[in-house]
Amino acid sequence: MFDIRQYRHKEVELERVESLLRVLPGDAIQVLEAGCRDGFITLKLAERYKSITALDLNMPQINHPHVRCMQGDITSLSFPDKSFDLVICTEVLEHIPPVALNKACSELSRVCRRYLLIGVPYCQDLRVHATRCVHCGMINPTTGHVNSFNELRLMSLFGNLPYRIVEYPGRGIYKTNRMSYAIYKRFGFPYGSYEQEEPCINCGKTLERPHLRLPARLICLFAKGLEFLQNKTGPSKSPVWIHVLWDFTEQDSLKYQ
Ligand SMILES: [Zn+2]
Repeated sequence: MFDIRQYRHKEVELERVESLLRVLPGDAIQVLEAGCRDGFITLKLAERYKSITALDLNMPQINHPHVRCMQGDITSLSFPDKSFDLVICTEVLEHIPPVALNKACSELSRVCRRYLLIGVPYCQDLRVHATRCVHCGMINPTTGHVNSFNELRLMSLFGNLPYRIVEYPGRGIYKTNRMSYAIYKRFGFPYGSYEQEEPCINCGKTLERPHLRLPARLICLFAKGLEFLQNKTGPSKSPVWIHVLWDFTEQDSLKYQ
């Protein structure tokens, strides 16, 4: 089972949270956290801001005098235009079905009066740790991440507006290759991230690791070895996340970056 409390102590996660807290602006009052999950970031925001709306697909359970919990969908927000001084959306956009991604981003921009802070995994190789659902046969990218972002894609989703800050926290991205991926695919992705919380993106059932016989296990081990060599000898580690902060009131005074 995926243990979120243990994950919070990992170095890459600590670096991610540290970066978020560093880029947060000080002069915001009304704050929206779109996709607050277990409220881990929300409670950190609550130390700094007086009025936070914590929104998620399932009703969040966060008990803090500065936090108002709300059930909602970022592809269709119920708030009027420019309702918030600061809109924060981290670890969310990679999960949004590609057809709804533009809508989600325009909704986040629409309800934002000034600052928009977006965090997503950076240039993630979505083939790594893929799984196959034993129930419907669907290949799932790891942890339900259906989108991968580089600067170009992320910026274009927000109208290529100039940004105030960009940070790249965490080091150590992991890549795969066509041969290893083809072998994993043939044998049902035995090394996939089956401990993840997210269910199958197609049927919603829990993902289960396949059981392989010895010959298949050996072939998959070979594929894993190939991947290991690729990552050992390849280019040095790259960033795990990208955080971008826009300030919509600065748009006229900044040149395009
Ligand atoms: Zn399924």
